[in-house]
Amino acid sequence: MKQRIALLGSTGSIGTQTLDVVRQYGELFEITTLTAGNNWQLLVRQAEEFSPDSVVIANKAYYGQVRDALASLPIKVYAGSDAIAQVVRGDGVDVVVNALVGYAGLMPTVSAVQAGKKVALANKESLVVAGDLVMRLAAEHRAPILPIDSEHSAIFQSLVGETSPIEKILLTSSGGPFLHTSAADLATVTVEDALRHPNWSMGAKITIDSATMMNKGFEVIEARWLFGVPAERIEVVVHPQSVIHSMVQFSDGAVKAQLGTPDMHLPIQYALTYPQRLPLDGRRFDFAACGQFTFFAPDTDRFPTLRFAYEALERGGTSGCTLNGANEVAVRAFLERRIGFTEITRVISRTIERATFVARPTLDDYRASDTESRALAEEEVLRSACRRD
Ligand code: NDP
Repeated sequence: MKQRIALLGSTGSIGTQTLDVVRQYGELFEITTLTAGNNWQLLVRQAEEFSPDSVVIANKAYYGQVRDALASLPIKVYAGSDAIAQVVRGDGVDVVVNALVGYAGLMPTVSAVQAGKKVALANKESLVVAGDLVMRLAAEHRAPILPIDSEHSAIFQSLVGETSPIEKILLTSSGGPFLHTSAADLATVTVEDALRHPNWSMGAKITIDSATMMNKGFEVIEARWLFGVPAERIEVVVHPQSVIHSMVQFSDGAVKAQLGTPDMHLPIQYALTYPQRLPLDGRRFDFAACGQFTFFAPDTDRFPTLRFAYEALERGGTSGCTLNGANEVAVRAFLERRIGFTEITRVISRTIERATFVARPTLDDYRASDTESRALAEEEVLRSACRRD
């Protein structure tokens, strides 16, 4: 029987690559739901190609356009964020691919695990914000969560067949576009510089997160929750070639890794076909041509965001939620050219200092914490912008 997929964020980088996998293995997968944020034209084209039961456009302003464009097809059209959290629960859904970006991914993840669905998770922010709650609900409702993020997929693949405890997770990082940029020069880098990732082509938000290394910090938090390994046993290693996607060290000193050319189709496909591997076209890694792998420790003076992530894990509660909200606001302000690159870190750090902390948050506490951190971060953005003028 085909796996019936609800694909959230179908118009994005992970979303469109997920559709490539579905296109290649039409005999295995079927799309039952597609969702988009604003890009209603692409959503309509995808719906015409994949004939889902339903589509959701998050931005209600485009509901009319989507409904009219799909009027001749038997496809239900919904609008708004609540509808995304609703559609994942349907009986016709076997697996939810969450390729949304940011906090918007949390409620659909919660809703999917509460309905006992298998979740193929790209939206790391779900775990950054509320990893504790999401993993508890997933255990309670026996909902498997399979990672799409390449590092976590590599760890997951390295753990297949292992029953022994993990001694250490070695999370690799490309170092981003500013690996060799001095602290002084970081202050003047442009949006275009920051969007030029050396090895991966991704959505704008995660690309900026990679440039500040917040992405790696988020991945530390993601790994802590997905694999139940405490922060002190998760080490970040800079590996500029991005060929080793991450490693696991066991108590006998053995280290297992997953390697390959950087291509998100592999972790997406693996999350959908696990425990099977299916053929995937594409470039194969040429070891002899590569010549050299390099590794070094991250520089947390130039990139303090990594420290913020470890501190958030240590403090627990709503810390990750505050960190995420502040980061989303700061990254957007940078992309809109309202603040400079190094101001991203300042906005986040000031927001963390000022935010309310709740030690044992409910879903409502997370919502309140997200709202508060965004408001505080906006104030800090305005302060930075005033200083620039
Ligand atoms: P993109 O920005 O390319 O795509 C995001 C998707 O989410 C789009 O379909 C967008 O819709 C939709 N969306 C955005 N905001 C909202 C909202 N508020 N409500 C509903 N839908 C929304 O992101 P990526 O694909 O790059 O990243 C998705 C997730 O995967 C992120 O969490 C990222 O960290 C993670 N990830 C991404 C990787 C990559 O290679 N891209 C690698 C590893 C992890 P629209 O465009 O129509 O507005």
